Amino acid sequence: MNFTGFPRRKYLQGPTPIEFLPALSKVLGNETNLYVKRDDLLPGAGGGNKTRKLEFCIADAMEQGADTIITCGAVQSNHARLTAAWSAKEGLDCHLILEERVKGSYKEEASGNNFLFELLDVKSIGVVEGGSDMMAEMNKKAGELAAAGKKPYIIPGGASNTIGATGYAVCAEETMTQLNEMRLKIDHIVVPSGSAGTHAGMVVGMTGVNGNIPINGVNVSRTKDVQEEIVYKLAVDTAERLDVKTGIERDDIVCFDQYVGPGYSLPTDAMVEAVKLFARTEAILLDPVYSGKAAAGLIDFVRNGHFSKGSNVLFLHTGGSPALYAYMDTFRQK
Ligand SMILES: *Cc1c(COP(=O)(O)O)cnc(C)c1O
Repeated sequence: MNFTGFPRRKYLQGPTPIEFLPALSKVLGNETNLYVKRDDLLPGAGGGNKTRKLEFCIADAMEQGADTIITCGAVQSNHARLTAAWSAKEGLDCHLILEERVKGSYKEEASGNNFLFELLDVKSIGVVEGGSDMMAEMNKKAGELAAAGKKPYIIPGGASNTIGATGYAVCAEETMTQLNEMRLKIDHIVVPSGSAGTHAGMVVGMTGVNGNIPINGVNVSRTKDVQEEIVYKLAVDTAERLDVKTGIERDDIVCFDQYVGPGYSLPTDAMVEAVKLFARTEAILLDPVYSGKAAAGLIDFVRNGHFSKGSNVLFLHTGGSPALYAYMDTFRQK
């Protein structure tokens, strides 16, 4: 695929590793070989998937002459943390609008990503009610900053527009190149599906390189139908931006919503088990909101024979471990 026509900053040091997970594969059994793509090890304070998207989004902001970035997320948003991190690195101001999706969940003194917002010197944090129109809130902030002489640029939640999703088309191509070099035939890829840029970008990239590996999205908030439509629309638009001639079929988008539990960011027993299992068997830290729930899906897929015997399955680890420190009670209770 050709990404050279788009503004891009270089945040990656090279491909993230693909590792076999021998101990986890053995514990789960069912003749499934599990592998992990370590996007948790991407550069940027605390690591994680938003770095790939921000290579393109922040480059676009800088190309437009912005000196200030505004973005939004949940109260423990990894995306907000990484946007603050790369803004700091680039000498840009960063302002956050945080959505209290769970009532009363914003605590100024909270640990995890919230603490890191402070260390990374975000210029302001606005907290709004769950269900607020986040784009309208960010536009309001942009208006205020522009009136004060700043040049603000808005990055949408999760950097999940076609610009950000391009970073995950890059990841799919990178993954396919690695698999070819390793001569490793992967039968399924499992990814978390949140604001949808990761999932959509992976599908677009796999289509663009004709990789033919099905992508299974594990939802972290929405129902299957709603999430699939969001991913599909973003994938179609991103494929158009990248001039992927074959286009995206509706069937290419598959989501699973059984692992969301009571709602976004709310712990489930299966998430707790997944986080503990990855830590104990492979010394890999997941997070409570995204990779932990996606891994709960992966584990259930293996146990319930979703993959045929002898399958090789690649789990895309999108990071998020700083959020663990905001959930210590959840893990210590069990
Ligand atoms: C944002 C995020 C995701 C989900 O990616 P989307 O592109 O928003 O779907 C998964 N894992 C972690 C750790 C994240 O921060």
